[in-house]
Amino acid sequence: PSDFQGRRVTVAGLGVSGVPAAKVLHARGATVTVVNDGDDARAREQAAELEALGITVRLGDGSTLPEGTELIVTAPGWHPGKPLFRAAEQAGVPVWGDVELAWRLRGPDAAPWLAVTGTNGKTTTVQMLASILRAAGLRTAAVGNIGVSLLDVVLGEERYDVLAVELSSYQLHWAPSLRAHSAAVLNLAPDHLDWHGSMEAYARDKGRIYEGNKVACVYNVADKATEDLVREADVEEGCRAVGFTLGTPGPSQLGVVEGILVDRAFVADRHKNAQELAEVSDVDPPAPHNIANALAAAALARAFGVPARAVRDGLRAFRPDAHRITHVADVDGVAYVDDSKATNTHAAEASLAAYEPIVWIAGGLAKGATFDELVAKSAARLRGVVLIGADRALIRDALARHAPEVPVVDLDRTDTGAMLQAVTEAKRLAQPGDTVLLAPACASMDMFTNYNQRGDAFAAAVRELDA
Ligand code: ADP
Repeated sequence: PSDFQGRRVTVAGLGVSGVPAAKVLHARGATVTVVNDGDDARAREQAAELEALGITVRLGDGSTLPEGTELIVTAPGWHPGKPLFRAAEQAGVPVWGDVELAWRLRGPDAAPWLAVTGTNGKTTTVQMLASILRAAGLRTAAVGNIGVSLLDVVLGEERYDVLAVELSSYQLHWAPSLRAHSAAVLNLAPDHLDWHGSMEAYARDKGRIYEGNKVACVYNVADKATEDLVREADVEEGCRAVGFTLGTPGPSQLGVVEGILVDRAFVADRHKNAQELAEVSDVDPPAPHNIANALAAAALARAFGVPARAVRDGLRAFRPDAHRITHVADVDGVAYVDDSKATNTHAAEASLAAYEPIVWIAGGLAKGATFDELVAKSAARLRGVVLIGADRALIRDALARHAPEVPVVDLDRTDTGAMLQAVTEAKRLAQPGDTVLLAPACASMDMFTNYNQRGDAFAAAVRELDA
């Protein structure tokens, strides 16, 4: 119900989702208590702001369920095994995430949602989708996990025709009643399993995105797990399963034929069995995984009725965010490419598949990953490898097993300056025509603040080489 008058609502967690949630619930007449595990300076500041409005805040105790709670609205990252949620379950108290709250509070004439999830490629795909929708003259925004709060957009002044929504597996876990117009699961690889508990539970949460879809459930033909999720979903009558593939598309699929992105799912002209959308070279970068992202975005846009022309114009207008396969410079006939955002093995595998021969710079925090599959698949493309960071021995051992002939420089340092040495070593290994690729397959926090800083360090080192 969207009527909160007099209801006792507990908001779990301050921060980007909790503060706006508490404010809007309070404004709608709920009696709000915010519970938060931490009580650092930032939390105190946010608490003071809410308390000034008359909202109760309990700092340093996110485990106890406040007396009389009728509903919990939680920050998406809160672990489902927390005592707070076990207490809620016992008491029969429902738990919503920020996305669920936004969904419930949207107005009667609110814009439909085109939703995207997956292990990798979410942000890129949602941005491509927004670009295509814009090229079609639609009022839209890329929102959700991308860093734009859905609650702000849903309650804001601005009017939209349609929203391009990125959803994380956490957000989906806590969004039981969300019903998208159409949705895509791009791919499924092990990630965040510590949170979800198992691969099955992770897949189940991702699969929630298809529940109740109206027009299309978009899946990845090359990733059977995504198709299985469509089959298990309970959708509206007439909603179709639409696949995307890097190969020749079958009926009800989008794919690639001789360098052309082709739609065989949403063809308006009865006399044609395929609609040409765009050329592979319209996609930046034209790497296989990114063509897949473009096809997924095109499928959602076409499900919304966007013409082929706008797909092409939107893809041409799209530029990827920094540190996602960003071409930094060519030095002495060698290309230097920054894919610092490849923070897991699945993402690194995609960018390693896009180049050959490669001098690969890798390493950092492994987050429990294993590297045998990645190294075995990529071995034939490697000219050499430079390893940095805390968990580099895991990659070194996988290289010894699957690519014993590839030269490896193992830099035994985790200071920030290591990047310049890594790039210098990579330059030494590279030959004209090669690509030096930073695709760490690891998180960056052992050496850097985040992947942005890691990518910036790489680009600075390349510029220094070039000077
Ligand atoms: P997300 O929002 O899911 O983290 P991004 O679009 O930010 O995804 O891309 C993150 C990284 O994942 C990119 O740097 C790239 O290396 C890789 N990537 C992007 N799209 C795909 C894909 N479809 N399959 C595999 N890896 C991908």
